[in-house]
Amino acid sequence: MSKKRSKNGRVVGFIVIIIAALFLSSFGGFEFAEKQSNSRAEKIAAASNDAAKDKAKKEAKEAEEKLPPNAKVAYLTFDDGPSANVTPRILNTLKQNNIKATFFILGSMAQQNPGLLKQEKAAGHTIGNHTYSHEYKYLYSSTDNFINDLKKNETIISSIIGDHDKTLIRFPGGSFKLTSFQRAATAAGYHYIDWNAETGDAERQHASVDFLLTTLRKEIAGQKKVVILMHDAATKSTTADALPQVIAILKSQGYQFRPITSDSYNVIKR
Ligand SMILES: [Zn+2]
Repeated sequence: MSKKRSKNGRVVGFIVIIIAALFLSSFGGFEFAEKQSNSRAEKIAAASNDAAKDKAKKEAKEAEEKLPPNAKVAYLTFDDGPSANVTPRILNTLKQNNIKATFFILGSMAQQNPGLLKQEKAAGHTIGNHTYSHEYKYLYSSTDNFINDLKKNETIISSIIGDHDKTLIRFPGGSFKLTSFQRAATAAGYHYIDWNAETGDAERQHASVDFLLTTLRKEIAGQKKVVILMHDAATKSTTADALPQVIAILKSQGYQFRPITSDSYNVIKR
């Protein structure tokens, strides 16, 4: 019996050792698995951290872009360029103030100053179509002339800057009362935008800065959304002179600045 017991004792001891060994090895395996899952968890955490950062960034950008409906917004628009003497000064002032604006381009001028048009696009401003010729008599004698001239300009602008929103146009002289031309433009897939404020730089050549600022103050009075007409042309150097003060006045009255985009095509249409 005692011999048998001792044999049994050895067997039990052997089993205990095996169990202990299994336990230890499984413990080690568990530890290993835990390490692995830890590193996976860290990776997931890092990835979701990046995702969270990206999301926060995106939300901040959207919050900045999306304004409350009652916000005061100024859309600075410059027609008839690009021009060799005025465009670089306008671009410089916009850059200094971190403002994006909208340029309504004449094809005839873009052909003369393609580099400036590229700079406008590269700086993030909106590029709109202001016809190739700007010849009222020709453009408004038939809707075909008007649309053909827009198409011609569209081809020239695209050949210089490539991909952009080709549908945004501004009628030379404005679309006011040109009902059949408005209809033709819309049917051709264009979005036209006029203005509801100006500095008066179209009224005379080399208008004084004082005149431009006085006109601006009167024009924006009581308006929450202002699309401001200005000109980018050789005889409009005082527009570039006045621009820092135009911006300062608008800022002091609580306006934020935006380029025209698909969100603002109809901002001043009633
Ligand atoms: Zn014009």
